[in-house]
Amino acid sequence: MPPHKLQIVPLGGLGEFGMNCMAVRWGDDIIVIDAGLMFPEAELLGVDIVVPDISYLVENRKHVRGIVLTHGHEDHIGALPWILGELNVPVYGTEFTLAYVEGKLEEHGLLDAAVLNEISAGTRFTLGPFTLHPIQVTHSLVDCVALAIHTPLGVVLHTGDFKVDPTPTDNKLFDLHAFADYGKEGVLALFQDSTNVERPGYTPSERAVRRKFDDVFRGTDRRLFISCFSSSIHRIKLALELAYEYNRKVALVGRSMTESTEIAQDLGYIDVPDGLFIHPGEIKSHPPERVCVLISGTQGEPMSALSRAAVENHKHAKIEPGDTVVLSSRIIPGNEKSIYRVIDHLFRREAHVIYEDGSSPPIHVSGHASQEELKLIINLVKPRYFIPIHGEYRQLKRHAEMAQQMRGAVGQVLMIESGDILEFDELGARKAGRANVGRVCIDSGSMGDVVEDLVIRDRRHLSEDGIVLPIIAINKHTGRVETSPEIVMRGFAGADSEDGLMSGARELIMNTLEQSSDEEKRDYGVMKEKIRQDLKRYIAKNTQRRPLIMPVILEI
Ligand SMILES: [Zn+2]
Ligand SMILES: [Zn+2]
Repeated sequence: MPPHKLQIVPLGGLGEFGMNCMAVRWGDDIIVIDAGLMFPEAELLGVDIVVPDISYLVENRKHVRGIVLTHGHEDHIGALPWILGELNVPVYGTEFTLAYVEGKLEEHGLLDAAVLNEISAGTRFTLGPFTLHPIQVTHSLVDCVALAIHTPLGVVLHTGDFKVDPTPTDNKLFDLHAFADYGKEGVLALFQDSTNVERPGYTPSERAVRRKFDDVFRGTDRRLFISCFSSSIHRIKLALELAYEYNRKVALVGRSMTESTEIAQDLGYIDVPDGLFIHPGEIKSHPPERVCVLISGTQGEPMSALSRAAVENHKHAKIEPGDTVVLSSRIIPGNEKSIYRVIDHLFRREAHVIYEDGSSPPIHVSGHASQEELKLIINLVKPRYFIPIHGEYRQLKRHAEMAQQMRGAVGQVLMIESGDILEFDELGARKAGRANVGRVCIDSGSMGDVVEDLVIRDRRHLSEDGIVLPIIAINKHTGRVETSPEIVMRGFAGADSEDGLMSGARELIMNTLEQSSDEEKRDYGVMKEKIRQDLKRYIAKNTQRRPLIMPVILEI
């Protein structure tokens, strides 16, 4: 690394959705902004999460001073257990962000060894040659910051994820003044969130959802189920306030929903009146019109509480005709099929289903800035260089084009993608080569409360752990399994020879099928996931192997 040069190396999140991670380097000092994961696309069936390849950081391990987190969403902190497992460097985050991080590290047995440093908006701290200034921003989560990074070459502003919400539910205002002050002093480069660049206008405030929630609470005379992301603290707060107002008890269903609500309560983001919460087991003993259930699973995840409730397979959350189910979240591209499948099941249960369908007032608002907010920040900051981040290629491109139009406010617009090394010095800025980047597929092995170690499910390691393809033929008309399942096992010791393992696996699949309801059996997404989870545990127990398991269901 040549002296007197500043390098920015995005390791993920530029040209892809999720996996946000960016290295900032001056000489022999590197800091990392965010360490996110990506949820696997359907093509990556058989893996749980995808994280960035960090060989750049591992190669430079003695130079890495720390990881600074902008906020607690999975696409910003989800890869931490994997990264800290390889490279145990100090982590910096706000109080709320660290609360999420702690839970995550605890789950993977990494908490004791981790060095976590709390930061707070407005308080500067130093890491090597960098002074960092966290700036309060508003987003769908709470306690989120942008970062002003003071480098020897000038100030680099990283927005993190944000929208400009003038009326956030926690009353912690977006610190527009800080952005304006930096604009006056001069900013070398602005790296800005591109997620919503395709949306004209302004993103509505979190408070806009209140009107719709109010309508729903007023118009519902049976049980009310509300599903939102467990990290949507604003939304949970709103649901609790209205439940109290409308005299309904609240049950939390789903592990992530319960944990997240507890954290928000502990840290004072939500205020829960005594006696508001009931245990999920008590739902049935309260009159339906006096109950509100906050339930996890907005994205149709096959094993989530909502998915299971939708096919009548949840112990406590029973959905009956006339009940109302609210999905207060966006439909993440790629998840449409599983989400609409869950909605279909809910309609079959004769529930009223309210989901984001473009109607107004909205049941969900985005946490990311639309075009006018993006322009506002650019105008305040007036950077010499503008670089779009957090987005797929088209979003980065459109963001770059938008900034290019703003001649008075932006010096030069630069487009980089994950792996590009962007170099700044006295003479200017340019791409200066490539770093090794990529995706690493991980099978977290955790299912419900069963917590196991992280296993790298990198395709390179397939040779060691092998692959299992259970092939199940289901009669489309009767929903019955006509023949015993075929199982193809390859690539791990004993896979072809051990008759006992094979027949045991067959039996297990038949059991899983038998114990599923007709409705579940018609839902191949659910069946595949159930079979995958059951087989995973069975094979791990009997062979200590973790093969890639990809169930195939054939209709005959
Ligand atoms: Zn976010
Ligand atoms: Zn994000």
